[in-house]
Amino acid sequence: MNRLRGKVVVVTGAARGQGAAEAAALAEEGAVVIATDVQAAAGCRPLDVTDPAAWAGLAAELRETHGAVHGLVNNAGITWRARLGEVTAEDFARVHAVNVTGPLLGIQHLIPLMPPGSAIVNVGSSAALTGHYPVAYTASKWALRGLAKTACLELGPRGIRVNTIHPGFIETEMTASAPLAFREANLSETPLGRTGTVDEISPLVVFLLSDDASFITGAEIPVDGGYTAHGGAKSISDALRGPDSTP
Ligand code: NAD
Repeated sequence: MNRLRGKVVVVTGAARGQGAAEAAALAEEGAVVIATDVQAAAGCRPLDVTDPAAWAGLAAELRETHGAVHGLVNNAGITWRARLGEVTAEDFARVHAVNVTGPLLGIQHLIPLMPPGSAIVNVGSSAALTGHYPVAYTASKWALRGLAKTACLELGPRGIRVNTIHPGFIETEMTASAPLAFREANLSETPLGRTGTVDEISPLVVFLLSDDASFITGAEIPVDGGYTAHGGAKSISDALRGPDSTP
């Protein structure tokens, strides 16, 4: 409790799913949470992360009301499950705008308000570590990693930390929209043999924003039940495992 007491933290995409859980967990640790989303929701301030004017408005408001911002969680994201041969340039750009340009704009607009000791958490994906088939989403999350690395380098001298988490299959509306085969294939590649919950993501976000993580920046942490740990070797291991399932 109270690990984030007195810190003002902005969370994007906080109307539901992981963002809502992160906002609740941060508030429980004493943070003043500015929950934002493009869709209307109780307790959420409207903010389309792709809109520079909206970010400028939020920054001006926060300067006025709080004078500083100590944390930013770039959580808002969209997926688009078109494959390489079928994705359109428009959809590719639309996904990029939310998943990469959104975090860029958030960082640009909020860093003038961030004192030393502040921290940024980007929500990547296991898709950012693999050749996941939804190409627009995968490319956007790889780009987000690049943004995070550059931001870590640029903002380190100002005492601002930048880290990225990579969720695996987490039960939210985003994954509820996936075909059953997607879920089953994910499970078969996940050593822990189950999907994750939003409450298994938010403690890491709290930690990375807190002073407990004061020397951690530029890190990328999967929260994926081991999905990205084996580089495709799980199916080989499973195929050759003895009938009694002993290791
Ligand atoms: P979700 O679809 O339940 O929630 C995403 C939220 O982002 C929604 O509330 C939506 O309104 C908001 N949003 C979308 N476009 C926006 C915009 N332009 N501006 C502001 N808000 C916007 O999804 P989730 O699973 O909670 O995803 C949260 C983050 O985690 C995303 O970045 C997603 O890519 C990432 N992620 C999710 C999973 C998973 O399995 N669920 C896995 C890896 C990464």
